[in-house]
Amino acid sequence: MLKITNLTAHYGAAQALFGLNMHITQGQTVALVGANGAGKSTLLKCLMGLVKPSGGEIVFQGQPVTGSSPAQMVQLGLALSPEGREVFASLSVRDNLRLGAAALKLPKSEEARRIATIFERFPKLGQRKNQLAGTLSGGEQQMLAMGRALMAQPRLLLLDEPSLGLAPRVTDELFQIIHQLGRSGTTILVVEQNAARALSASDTAYLLAGGRIVEFGKSHDILVDPALRAAFLGAASSDNPAASRLGAAGLTNIRLEKPLMHTKTFISAITSEEELHAHQLQGLKWTVRHAYEGSPAYRAKLDAAGITPDSIQSLKDLPRLPLTSNDDLREGYPFPLRSVPFEQLVRIHASSGTTGKRKVLCYTQKDLDDWTDMFARCYQTAGVTPLDRVQIAVGYGVWTAGMGFQLGCEKVGALAIPVGPGNIDMQIQFLIDFQSTVFCSTASMALLMAEEIHKRGLADKISVQKVIYGSERSSRSMRKKISELFGGAELFDITGLTELYGPGAGIECPDHDCIHYWGDYYILEIIDPKTLEPLPHGQWGEMVVTSLAKEGAPLIRYRTRDITRIIPGPCTCGSIMPRHSRIKGRSDDLFIFRGVNIYPSSIDSILSVVPGLGSEYQIYLTRDNAGRDHMRLVVERGEGVAGHRTPELLHEAGYQIKRQLLVTADLELVDYGSLPRSERKIQRVFDSRIQDEIV
Ligand code: ZN
Repeated sequence: MLKITNLTAHYGAAQALFGLNMHITQGQTVALVGANGAGKSTLLKCLMGLVKPSGGEIVFQGQPVTGSSPAQMVQLGLALSPEGREVFASLSVRDNLRLGAAALKLPKSEEARRIATIFERFPKLGQRKNQLAGTLSGGEQQMLAMGRALMAQPRLLLLDEPSLGLAPRVTDELFQIIHQLGRSGTTILVVEQNAARALSASDTAYLLAGGRIVEFGKSHDILVDPALRAAFLGAASSDNPAASRLGAAGLTNIRLEKPLMHTKTFISAITSEEELHAHQLQGLKWTVRHAYEGSPAYRAKLDAAGITPDSIQSLKDLPRLPLTSNDDLREGYPFPLRSVPFEQLVRIHASSGTTGKRKVLCYTQKDLDDWTDMFARCYQTAGVTPLDRVQIAVGYGVWTAGMGFQLGCEKVGALAIPVGPGNIDMQIQFLIDFQSTVFCSTASMALLMAEEIHKRGLADKISVQKVIYGSERSSRSMRKKISELFGGAELFDITGLTELYGPGAGIECPDHDCIHYWGDYYILEIIDPKTLEPLPHGQWGEMVVTSLAKEGAPLIRYRTRDITRIIPGPCTCGSIMPRHSRIKGRSDDLFIFRGVNIYPSSIDSILSVVPGLGSEYQIYLTRDNAGRDHMRLVVERGEGVAGHRTPELLHEAGYQIKRQLLVTADLELVDYGSLPRSERKIQRVFDSRIQDEIV
């Protein structure tokens, strides 16, 4: 949209800009950060035609505009909200707004419509529409200046120092509005001294010092990359203000919350596979000895398998150890696998017990500390920073979920909003009022929220940038939908289970290709759920975990029932932590239909590729009197997909199922929204046949 090449500017003999290069893409919010006198205002004035550049070129929407007049620039679609607001004190709020579009000579009705839109965006201005601008507070004057610039419906909105002289709370409010403007598609160049605020509200950022661009990059990278942070924000994140270019440029008025948090990293210090394996062997030896000496149940199992603590000499000895299963947990109820004396335990958690007794796990303080660090690492991997506000919509109480999300969030220094599950109205109110930037829930709850946000038309009133969800399988189309309806949020699938601390055992990485799991806290194996033999890397099977540092209730080759596979080789994201595929289902979910093993997830992925189908479906399995099995698949049409397309969609879905699963299903299409949504896990498979033996 805007390209600046080699731009120079002079005031008389004094040079103010030295060969600036800059690039703004349509729809982006770009931050230009720098100290007083760095050249920020000069650059804006060059763009608005208020200062004539002495060299270089400005191209706006493909058209060279270097040296155009201010009136021409407004006509082309630029609007400036100037530093110091410059509102007309003796005119009313409404008349100030009118001036914003005066050059366009709009018909009265259009002018009124635009003013109404501005009042919707800035309700405070609406309440004061007849008040004289001079009587407004600083924050309200800033809103008025922005509203006036928006009256021209600019293609590119230039904001000069919007937070200057404003109280932190008012600054927060303004940046929320800037963020929302960005989400509604306005392209914005914001010039700011408050680097932290500008970075958290923008996509890309340029750092200007002494009339030159000295750094630039994606704002998010700058917020999470320690080196870039030091360059941009060093003045606030170290004791020496001159340590960074920003500090050296004299910019010391940055307000950065919780500065110490930024220096702490939860990413593992391990740098190679060899180092990881050495660490794992040490942890494995410790775990086997600890369990053998601390837990009579483990000792009996290990003795029966002919294993003593000294049997473990290398990681290759791992498959010799006996498997631990659900049954071991149930038999040991209420404190199964306990390997330390009671006085060392500080907490228990339990899983929901739908069948049989609940699984109860006990924790020492070190277990809780390790879990918190693992969870903090998940947040950090997803790019959560102390500037984030994390709305936690998972269960609190005896379940592990809420506690884990909460402790990890506070550990990385982000603001936790512990709402718990359900209560959609309150969730939505908090998303708007608190401007939460991260939403944590199950996949079903995220879908429910996404659809509600869409239904109520709130996508541009919320600021959610990341959805972290877990405990449940999610299809590709469900993910796509959640992301879209949340206004383009980035999705992160988080893994974990109560038996292994809780959620936070691994997370989808920013390259969204795999789940990285924390191999320095546990070893993951994949076994064939029928033969129980280990499977090679790359093959799908049941995930088996062995903890390396868990004190209260260590796990030795615990069968998780989750189906996944280990992905060999390094990840493009640069993390050396080992990785597995997103969970495909549970071995309990697998159903056998006419001799074919089917996971519900394979139905997910087939339906995902048929355009026009929704993400929700149900599978009904029945058996007729002749002993033949039947599968009925009820699928929703996509939102807004016309009913007359039903025959064509049925044909395509039926064809894909036959082709990929080699079975025939009776298909039924229903209206969008007619299958149940739930904030808990959604039941999709209803099997009323005599239960086949399930692996
Ligand atoms: Zn990765």
